[in-house]
Amino acid sequence: MALRSDWSQRSCSMARGLDILGDPWSMLVLREVFFGNGRFDAMKSRLAVADSVLTKRLTGLVEAGLLAKRTYDDGGRPRQEYVLTSMGEDALPVLNAVVMWSEKHLPAPSAEAHMFVIHTGCGQRTGSADTCTHCGERLTAANTSWHSLTRSEAPINLATAAA
Ligand SMILES: [Zn+2]
Repeated sequence: MALRSDWSQRSCSMARGLDILGDPWSMLVLREVFFGNGRFDAMKSRLAVADSVLTKRLTGLVEAGLLAKRTYDDGGRPRQEYVLTSMGEDALPVLNAVVMWSEKHLPAPSAEAHMFVIHTGCGQRTGSADTCTHCGERLTAANTSWHSLTRSEAPINLATAAA
């Protein structure tokens, strides 16, 4: 989606993936949509980001096929919100891995500045991005919650791809 140079035709699949998933704002937009926060104003508020930056990432993620636009009714006014596609939902282990790597290696600026990945099937924190290290079940958006201690007291069940 060419925020820098276009890497979409690179021979290395990691480079092609990073063309989309290597942008911090795009990853934070995906975080918000997984948290169920897919409306423009709410995302803008949570991310404290300029309209132009958010619009560019949303457009890029829709063009790349990770998000889709859906109309909702805002008190009689039709408005757009963003939902995950199955391609977007498949990025979940990438986001989980970033959280786990950061928790392991990067200092937190405060005691609350932590986020945990929880397998809702058994209720335990997992230490792996795609499998529950407590019970062995494969993680999907439907059986995973994120607990950001600065965001909510309880873990939040993740959004899944729109039907
Ligand atoms: Zn489990």
